[in-house]
Amino acid sequence: MPAKIIDGAAHARTMREDFKSQVESLKTRGVQPGLAVVLVGDDPASQVYVRNKEKACIEAGMYSEVHRMSAQVSEAELLKFIEGLNVNPKIHGILVQMPLPKHISEQKVIELISPAKDVDCFHPYNVGRVSIGKGVFYPCTPYGVMQLLAREGIAVVGKHAVVIGRSNIVGKPMALLLINEGATVTVCNSRTPDLAGLTRQADIVVVAVGKPVMITGDMIKPGATVVDVGINRLADGKLVGDVDFVSAVEKAGFITPVPGGVGPMTITMLLANTLAAAEESLQR
Ligand code: NDP
Repeated sequence: MPAKIIDGAAHARTMREDFKSQVESLKTRGVQPGLAVVLVGDDPASQVYVRNKEKACIEAGMYSEVHRMSAQVSEAELLKFIEGLNVNPKIHGILVQMPLPKHISEQKVIELISPAKDVDCFHPYNVGRVSIGKGVFYPCTPYGVMQLLAREGIAVVGKHAVVIGRSNIVGKPMALLLINEGATVTVCNSRTPDLAGLTRQADIVVVAVGKPVMITGDMIKPGATVVDVGINRLADGKLVGDVDFVSAVEKAGFITPVPGGVGPMTITMLLANTLAAAEESLQR
């Protein structure tokens, strides 16, 4: 029997509807959650991401600011601007769209953003909190994957999860969240020998590499859950993930499609983190 296809777009819509009432409730307590997005330069993909984030924020009833800066802005100017956002009471979440131009240190930017407003969850303080299972924010894409698993009723505890990719944005925090939920986790990278031997043992496979058709049906244990984080644009313009959907859907128990799987959850979890930041601001 073919796998159940996990409809990430539908889960994202349901969650965003719930956020609207949470925003209203925060407003009655005197706080409108506010997100500031900073975009440096004119990278077309980043412009699309930023527009989508702004739209999602406004639809949820949140306050949104987008600051577009020239690719020539100096590192000092950008850092000074972020310092202003750190102390702006209307802003609960700050997101600086990556990648930044080469003359600006991404690490300096990440570490300057106030941990209390770090809704991307990139600051070492928040990464540390996640690693000890005491996060206030969670990295948006892995957080979205965990939500999809939970909302589909897919148990994690006691399961063997194989995460392919070890980036700081997806693979590594994905492994941490799965560990925190009680999975036995194997994390693979480009040097991992016998990848197929590992994926065939997995109850849950999360693929975050950025290479089309990396994972095929013969690499999947029958009935396993396959989560495809990858986004690849083919020469004909078609958007595909890292998993060969056609063969994998016949083998898996659950599978996320691309597009419409993990992607819509990433921005949703950015809103969830912004809500959490606004909520926390009331405790201070
Ligand atoms: P990175 O390029 O930072 O990391 C890719 C990882 O894949 C690396 O750890 C690399 O290993 C590993 N890798 C490469 N080749 C192989 C291989 N043959 N076998 C096993 N592992 C391999 O990418 P990101 O983590 O930033 O993104 C991964 C994908 O997810 C991309 O397609 C990206 O577009 C997508 N993405 C999707 C999001 C969404 O919202 N759906 C959000 C963020 C990313 P090594 O470390 O050894 O080089």
